[in-house]
Amino acid sequence: MGGTQELSRSGILLTGTSRAFGCPSKYIQGPGEFLNVFKYGSRFGNRFLFLIDSGVYDIILEKIESVEDKCGCSYEVMSFLGECCMENVAELAEAARKFDSNVLVGIGGGKVLDIAKLLADETDMSRIIVPTSASSDAPAADWAAVYTREGVHISGRPTRRSTELVLVDSEIIVNAPARLFSAGIGDALATWFEAKACLDACTPNCIGPYRSCRVGTAVSRECYNILREDGLSALRAVKAHIVTPAVENVIEANILLSGLGFINGGLAGSHGFHNGFSNIPGCKKYLHGEVVAFGLICQLCLENAAPAEINDLLQFLHDSDLPVTLEQIGIECSEENLETIVEHTLNHNILIHHEPVPVNKKILKAAIIDADKLGRDFMENLGK
Ligand SMILES: [Zn+2]
Repeated sequence: MGGTQELSRSGILLTGTSRAFGCPSKYIQGPGEFLNVFKYGSRFGNRFLFLIDSGVYDIILEKIESVEDKCGCSYEVMSFLGECCMENVAELAEAARKFDSNVLVGIGGGKVLDIAKLLADETDMSRIIVPTSASSDAPAADWAAVYTREGVHISGRPTRRSTELVLVDSEIIVNAPARLFSAGIGDALATWFEAKACLDACTPNCIGPYRSCRVGTAVSRECYNILREDGLSALRAVKAHIVTPAVENVIEANILLSGLGFINGGLAGSHGFHNGFSNIPGCKKYLHGEVVAFGLICQLCLENAAPAEINDLLQFLHDSDLPVTLEQIGIECSEENLETIVEHTLNHNILIHHEPVPVNKKILKAAIIDADKLGRDFMENLGK
């Protein structure tokens, strides 16, 4: 470990100058690319285990069976539905060992992909990650969000080995619900603002106690640029289930740049507030990226960003079908809810302490109320 860190009341502050960058070994994206899974994967082994999200099991199995040339590889298939918890990792590992597989292919949404990362670590299999939507920054991050079996978030955990290949089939992505794509935009939009906060506050990225390399910063900024240039036209195309150049760009932003951006740039207020909001039961039916999107507005209020910048983002979020008020993430702006949110944001996760401004309960509460008021005023002006 080349960096040094110091745990203080205000979080983890970097005291060294070491910088670090991490990424998957390879990323391939394009229409129909999933059908090359055996061709690409046979470089790593010849006994495949497909771990498939139960929601897309039939359609994916059909695609696997349709591949004529399997490059001499055998395969087993397992369906998964559940939490990314260590008990499930242990159970899946026991089943996987019986197959004696050497290539694990995780296919589906964030939880399946995260558990596939941990399972590959546990069983020492090569790992291919195949997201079936562009809904979050999970696929390209060598990092897993670990929960209890009941679904309570415990921690983020870096994986021991890097993903050998992230394989993205843009035809599969545009056939997923558009809401997932919007949520991915929300998650990815926060990437640059959080990386910048970590940079300004001198707080660590997600690799360890390190600063971001310049490449990590550049990736985070480019993620934002792509979304602003192509986000809305891409979303329009996804609603029509067509792959356009804008769609390809935004898939790359939502999956690759957002994933690399958060691992290398670091997380801060947007995800910190998200972790606080997720303790309110009404919020649970909203997607990760939807909640992060409103968390971004709170982060900007906390940082005293220029009103014109916040208004511009409110418009973009609204145009992307993303929430701009507490109500739109299922949370009533009551004293009790605010107390729960700020308690968890401040004291149960480190991310808010990556902000370059002082934080305490009063300050956080004010930022949330301010963000909600801005969002409500914005909606009122729209006449909604
Ligand atoms: Zn995220």
